[in-house]
Amino acid sequence: MKYHKDKKWTNWGKTQTCRPALTFYPQSRADLVSIVNRARDNGKRVRVVGQGYSWSPLVPTDDYLVDVSNLNRVISIDSEKRLAVFETGVTVGQLDKALRKHNMAIPSNVLSTSFSYGGVVSTGSHGHGWDCQTVSDYVEALIVVLASGDIVRFSEVTHGKDVMNAVRISLGTLGIILEIWLRVEPIFNLEMVERKVGIDVVEDVSQLKTLVENSDYFSMFWVPLSSGLWLMEWNKTDKEAKRRPRSADISDFFGACMGNLQGKILRRWPTLTGKFMRLIFDKYVPKYKQEIRDVSDATHYRTAVTLIPSHNLSFAVKLDEEFENVKKVLFAVLDNVRAKEERKEFPLNLMVQVYFLKSSQALLSPSFGGDDEHYFYIELLSYRGTDGFDSFMKEISDELTSMPELQTRPHWAKRFLDVPGARLKIREAWGENLNQFSKIRDKLDPAKMFLNEYLEDLLAGDTVELRHADGLTTGKHKILDPNHRL
Ligand SMILES: Cc1cc2nc3c(=O)[nH]c(=O)nc-3n(C[C@H](O)[C@H](O)[C@H](O)COP(=O)(O)OP(=O)(O)OC[C@H]3O[C@@H](n4cnc5c(N)ncnc54)[C@H](O)[C@@H]3O)c2cc1C
Repeated sequence: MKYHKDKKWTNWGKTQTCRPALTFYPQSRADLVSIVNRARDNGKRVRVVGQGYSWSPLVPTDDYLVDVSNLNRVISIDSEKRLAVFETGVTVGQLDKALRKHNMAIPSNVLSTSFSYGGVVSTGSHGHGWDCQTVSDYVEALIVVLASGDIVRFSEVTHGKDVMNAVRISLGTLGIILEIWLRVEPIFNLEMVERKVGIDVVEDVSQLKTLVENSDYFSMFWVPLSSGLWLMEWNKTDKEAKRRPRSADISDFFGACMGNLQGKILRRWPTLTGKFMRLIFDKYVPKYKQEIRDVSDATHYRTAVTLIPSHNLSFAVKLDEEFENVKKVLFAVLDNVRAKEERKEFPLNLMVQVYFLKSSQALLSPSFGGDDEHYFYIELLSYRGTDGFDSFMKEISDELTSMPELQTRPHWAKRFLDVPGARLKIREAWGENLNQFSKIRDKLDPAKMFLNEYLEDLLAGDTVELRHADGLTTGKHKILDPNHRL
């Protein structure tokens, strides 16, 4: 099996780096078993990396890093059983292509096609949709190589609901996922409407409630400092869909190039932010646009998103009956950003995004909740290296977590985890779920082979003090200055 010694690893977001003693590139289940056995014999720890898109300190290790990108075979797609079986390193784009040949699709998914499913599932990543859950909730079974070297197939049938709901989102701490069995559906079409509205849609939340509850999929964007909102309402339709044209990818690519140029300009001359953002809202956001796409093309409506170096803070927030929580959260952000403009500070210069979806069953899901509950995710995006984004992130995190009715929980893959004090907040937010998860984890991996120092502190259980309560240092690994420029 191919491996490297002391090879430096850095994530896409340039927030994490490490130099593992050995980096392995397995191609088979036998390779995975031999890595785990070698680690056990030598007292080494193991972390896995998919495509390395997560901002948070989930991957870094000084011991063994396992790059699973060569485990990328789609094994079977069964239209009758509505099941896709594939290896962990298969990317969202690869599986889309294979599913399309069988007229099948995943009803809700992440925006980009570049991520590995191992990474998407392990972090509880999500798309949106009133009746849709996170991708991890669509997992029927996972085949995992455990610390003992045993290969175990986890499913509700074999291990029961509780264990399966722990395994669904594991942050790579239970073992190395080899295969994913995912529930899929016959592909369907969506009528997609984009339009611009005033902010009064959220001020008078009854308007928003009606819009969200009458859409199969609903998302909402605020171009920072602009005067309105950009809505996307998608509904299932029997009308015929046109495939997303190549020209849309090309236009996305040029849009990303312009975005990069704009990012560089705004970092250099931040006082232009307000003017630029308002211009984008006026000229770029459509007044009204309607198109019909199949769910796969609709989900990945921006293909070049990974070409824009960004930072992203994201929380799941519980949706209350009256939608008051949406108003509280959105205005906490809007008021903060507007007040900062008055002081000539511009920490937010890309987008605020809000997505609605059904609660998740996975113990570690940010949107974990009861069967009839809904959550919304709010994401705050700025160009990498924007001055003041970190302190803005801390202010917003403190404000949202101080309102208990919001039940705010951060996205595992994004930026909150390195906010000072974050781990204590994470423990509070997940409470008993985190303890339950840790108990199952400790049974499967008593020697803590699959933890790095960051995760060990986080999952150590409530009897152990956090060793790095400020959340910024993890042993020898360096968490890079998130604002450093490329
Ligand atoms: C531009 C951008 C857009 C994004 N859009 C979305 C979005 O629309 N919705 C959303 O929810 N998230 C989004 N994310 C977050 C993204 O979904 C996660 O970061 C995801 O984990 C990326 O996949 P990856 O293959 O890069 O995983 P990595 O970052 O490589 O790994 C993530 C975690 O998965 C674990 N892991 C990976 N493979 C295995 C395995 N085989 N066994 C055990 N553990 C494993 C790793 O150890 C790590 O803990 C976005 C991120 C970026 C950068």
